[in-house]
Amino acid sequence: MANVWTISLGLAFAASFGTATAQSNLSLTNYTYSPSRTTVGSIRTVNLAGRFKLVGPNASLFKLDKNNQLSIRPDVAKASAPWYDLVFERKAGRSSIRDTFRIVKDEFVHNQVIAHRGAWKKLGTSENSLASLQNAIKLGCMGSEFDVHMSADSVLFVNHDAHIQGLAIEKTPSAELKKLKLSNGESLPTLEAYLTEGIKQNHTRLILEIKTSTLGKERSMALTERILRMVHRLKAQAWVDYIAFDYDVCKKVKELNPDATVTYLNGDKSPEQLAADHVDGLDYHFSVLKKNEGWISDAQQRKLTVNVWTVNDQDSLRWFLERHVNFITTNEPELLLGMIE
Ligand code: MG
Repeated sequence: MANVWTISLGLAFAASFGTATAQSNLSLTNYTYSPSRTTVGSIRTVNLAGRFKLVGPNASLFKLDKNNQLSIRPDVAKASAPWYDLVFERKAGRSSIRDTFRIVKDEFVHNQVIAHRGAWKKLGTSENSLASLQNAIKLGCMGSEFDVHMSADSVLFVNHDAHIQGLAIEKTPSAELKKLKLSNGESLPTLEAYLTEGIKQNHTRLILEIKTSTLGKERSMALTERILRMVHRLKAQAWVDYIAFDYDVCKKVKELNPDATVTYLNGDKSPEQLAADHVDGLDYHFSVLKKNEGWISDAQQRKLTVNVWTVNDQDSLRWFLERHVNFITTNEPELLLGMIE
């Protein structure tokens, strides 16, 4: 039901997404609420002023004021539902825009632990599998990280390497990739299957790495657009944070959706530069941050998040915990969870 466009304006917005598919560019500044924080966020549109209203079955549970600021009724916020789907509509003359967002009760875990490719090592399952994601959720990690590539026919798959079982993902049709089995017996997951699994809960965030294409910049940009469209279609915005090695990909995420959170992986930009480009934080290799320790406090002063990868030994984990980084991405989530208990 999302993304219903009934007006010609839709084409202009679709064009800004570089595709003929109708796509709403609406977003919210925030998608969560709690019993103590009933203000959700405001609705943001690109090049489109005007007041929205709420329609549909859950409309009476929320309030949207004249500044398009959304809040949930306090008694509803206390209820046990983990989320509500909410339809926003704006009418102008004979045209209308309508879009649906999932507003999620904030029961997300607030520890520093991000399971790198899910939690797989200690439990002996495949990395980047649905099982590894489920394990990370069960353990109580703040986030579970995974990597996304695009097949020759533009279907999104979750895998770390650009190749799998001798096949280059980007040069292989999706029908062939869907036949592949991981070592734990699961099929190679599509992003759709992965996100669908991840949004069954509201405790662990989904840390989505947009992989750099081996076929060039244009394809990295197309991958970025497809990923954001899918997150929008599945109403997964409350769960997903983005990471990428390609700085242009980070900037593209913010261009497509200024409210999305994206952090940069490649370790070669100062906090000052990241802040200037509205990137939300740095997510650097531990060797980079050990060499440039000042970047940790510099980033924190600029309200950027600091994440470090991939830290697996106890001494290094402790070193970063003592410096109060926001997140540590690790293959040893059980060890790190034990240390912060
Ligand atoms: Mg990764």
